[in-house]
Amino acid sequence: MKSNNVIVKNSKIDGMGVFANREFKKGEVVIKWNTDTILTDEDVKNLPEEEKRYLTAFKDKYILQQSPAKFVNHSCEPNTKVVDESSDIAIKDIKKGKEITSYYLSFFCTDETIKCNCKSKKCKNK
Ligand SMILES: [Zn+2]
Repeated sequence: MKSNNVIVKNSKIDGMGVFANREFKKGEVVIKWNTDTILTDEDVKNLPEEEKRYLTAFKDKYILQQSPAKFVNHSCEPNTKVVDESSDIAIKDIKKGKEITSYYLSFFCTDETIKCNCKSKKCKNK
């Protein structure tokens, strides 16, 4: 996949975000995850605290999200969804310049409290 499909820059939602650098049609792969490095429970325990926010469940184990996937912000009204635990697929047409968002709160470790800042009317975590 060409890396210029999306760009990483400052986001109004939180820190950095991922933005469409071209138009995406509904059903297109927006971001393909890098799943080369799979982490076990043991690996996760040894991970620095600040890295843990990038953890994602992957086939009963975990992966650490790489850029650009790690910068995708959560939204309660997302424009992508995760397919096959390995890519973000557009669930609606996405215009160039729009921030790429995904509903992924459920992937986080349960002891972590996430404050959602997606500003969606449907936000479940205000
Ligand atoms: Zn929200």
